Amino acid sequence: MLLGRKQLLIGGEWRDAADGKVMPVVNPATEEIIAEVASASAPDVDAAVAAARAAFVGPWGKMSARERGRLVYKLGERLMEKVDEVARLETLHNGKPITESRHVEIPMAADCLQYFAGWADKVHGDTIPVKGNALVYTLREPLGVVAAIVPWNFPLLLAMWKVAPALAMGNTVILKPASQTPLTALALGQLAIDVGFPPGVLNVITGSGSTVGQAIVEHPGIDKIAFTGDTSTGKGIMRSAAETLKHLTLELGGKSPNIVFADADLDAAVRGATIGIFYGKGEVCAAGSRLLVDKAIKDQFIGKIAERTKKMVAGDPLDPKTRLGAISSRGQLERVLNYVEIAKREGGSLVAGGSRTDIGTGKGFFMQPTVFADITPDMTIAREEIFGPVLAAIDFVDVDEAIARANDSIYGLAAGIWTRDIKKAHYVASRLQAGTVWINTYNVYDTAAPFGGYKQSGYGREMGRHAIEYYTQTKTVWVDLG
Ligand code: NDP
Repeated sequence: MLLGRKQLLIGGEWRDAADGKVMPVVNPATEEIIAEVASASAPDVDAAVAAARAAFVGPWGKMSARERGRLVYKLGERLMEKVDEVARLETLHNGKPITESRHVEIPMAADCLQYFAGWADKVHGDTIPVKGNALVYTLREPLGVVAAIVPWNFPLLLAMWKVAPALAMGNTVILKPASQTPLTALALGQLAIDVGFPPGVLNVITGSGSTVGQAIVEHPGIDKIAFTGDTSTGKGIMRSAAETLKHLTLELGGKSPNIVFADADLDAAVRGATIGIFYGKGEVCAAGSRLLVDKAIKDQFIGKIAERTKKMVAGDPLDPKTRLGAISSRGQLERVLNYVEIAKREGGSLVAGGSRTDIGTGKGFFMQPTVFADITPDMTIAREEIFGPVLAAIDFVDVDEAIARANDSIYGLAAGIWTRDIKKAHYVASRLQAGTVWINTYNVYDTAAPFGGYKQSGYGREMGRHAIEYYTQTKTVWVDLG
């Protein structure tokens, strides 16, 4: 095993799961077991909650906001010092190209820590004029113990969208990474120890969602769950968390439309549409998986997309030249291939890809980037989140139909608009039911810009000053001056 055995981080100490269980971590590009991690259960959650609570009422709660911000900033700095090592881990357990891990995901994770570090001592209450002779002021206080439950597609970045604001606002954290991708969360835990975080401020618990995840959601000692993952899992978490009335933010699935009008810069739109779906192997919650194309340019545009897609070849994720890595697991590959079969059965026209592929090693969960044309809005691949490199092209005749088709989804995470007409662009943006709208671009993010869903893509916002709302609570203090 390349990376050996990893333990849980609880109260600043590395330890085995209470019952000694472990689970394997597989490299999806080679199918080899690369590490074993502890498989935690309810007693480990109890221990992590006790450690997090002790840190919250102890050293972390007593530290000044400025000092806390400095530590969070340092963690970001330290992460960048270790960027090569951490990026390699991200690629090894997820299968994404090293260039994405090294130059995008891990730097963005560090940036997120440093952005929220700056807010630590700048969030404060107000004095409020009221009727009568009283002084009324508000305090902005942390929530307490926050659990971050994250998926396998951007393991460290999606963790940081939660961990960074939680810590900066003075909460303590229990981080539960996905079973497939636990290595970078554990690496972060070590970096937090190295830079001097007090024990218990950041705890990392690995193990399966249905056992340890569920135990976290039900635990009465946890004040908030910040979750990213599947919509059905999110609904289950919401039901379970109701019992203890936890604070909740949910960033869930998507089926995002990328709308191309006939007056767009078509070459730019082709690039945007392919990046929109094939970046991260399509395992991106905001992936532009529904391509809505103006009927007037449909054949020309889909021809260009198919041509570009056929040139994209999967490669070794550790090779810096690779732009398309391995699907994250055998189960996910099978799920995506099953959607391809469904699309063919329902009458979609396969214009590129559609099959499992190989990079010459005979191993690994690689898939050809895939494009279907002639998809109608009622077909399964126009409605369900595939979470893989599969683009479904649907046509429209005018602006109203484009908007109606774009909004015809239970999801509302993101959307793209390609047009040279500035009025049309802003009009369509105003009508789309989506948490993020990109005009003449796609899949761009910045820690300062909030991100989150409309409809069944979830609620709450991550990143930007909006996220701070979800990691603090307001206390109103009345002083009688009469
Ligand atoms: P899940 O939503 O099941 O997993 C996300 C996280 O939640 C993981 O850490 C998982 O742990 C944990 N989890 C699972 N069940 C529970 C539970 N009952 N209580 C608490 N935590 C839980 O996604 P999957 O990994 O199963 O992926 C399934 C599908 O979800 C994908 O094919 C894709 O369509 C979609 N998805 C969407 C994402 C998005 O960002 N929109 C992200 C990931 C997946 P564990 O890994 O141990 O199961």
